[in-house]
Order: sequence, then C-alpha cells, then structure tokens
Amino acid sequence: MANAPECLFCRIVAGDVPAEVLHTTERTVAFRDVSPQAPLHALVVPRDHYENAAALAAGDPETSAELVRTAAAVAVAAGHDDYRLVFNTGAGAGQSVFHAHLHVLAGRDLAWPPG
Ligand code: C5P
Repeated sequence: MANAPECLFCRIVAGDVPAEVLHTTERTVAFRDVSPQAPLHALVVPRDHYENAAALAAGDPETSAELVRTAAAVAVAAGHDDYRLVFNTGAGAGQSVFHAHLHVLAGRDLAWPPG
C-alpha cells in the first residue's frame, strides 16, 4: 500500500520527522513514544501505510506478524521479559494516529483492566 504524505508515522518512517529509532527490520520501524506512559514505551509501525491493525492484518499478514516479533525484540533488548502490547483501534478506543502501530509498554506494574 502506498505511503500517505500527510501521515505522521509515514513521515517518521521516511526520516522526515525525527524520532528515536530503537530497531528496524525490512518491513517495520520501532521508535520511542514522545509521551511515554512507562519506562519503556515504544511504537512499532509497518513501513507501509495501513489505517489500523486490522487493515494491516488483512492486507499484509506477514508484516502484521513481524510487528509482534519486532515488539518482542525491543522489549527483550531493553531487559524486559514482561511487557504489554497494545493496538488502539478507532478513536473511541484511543487511536489518535491512523497508521497502524503497536505500543510496547514495560518497566512498571501495568494494571488490568486498562483505563
Ligand atoms: O494509540 P494512539 O494512536 O493514541 O497512539 C499514538 C501515539 O503516538 C501516542 O502514544 C503518542 O504519544 C505518539 N506520538 C509520538 N510521536 C509523535 C506524535 C504522537 O510518539 N510525533
């Protein structure tokens, strides 16, 4: 799927907007969230533009799986065996950037259910 010029995460993937990149793979980029909600808070995004996780899984299942593998690698590289992975999907669920992204949270006690 083509990248979207106005999409913030497409621009981060392209290097046009700065981000602290933690890990890259052929199909994904992981970078630190600018507003961290835990000592480790990274976002893993596909290089290609999909609106949300479901669209990514339907359109490119291999990259969907790679997102999870990358997220696990980021957590383990930071020394965390326990971590939370979150896909907010839709504005009502807290999605604010409409380019699929997997949150990786670790380094503190994470309550359940989430707020
Ligand atoms: O799930 P949601 O769409 O709300 O997540 C978007 C995330 O992108 C937020 O956690 C926000 O802090 C992060 N963000 C970022 N860099 C930006 C803008 C937003 O890391 N320049």
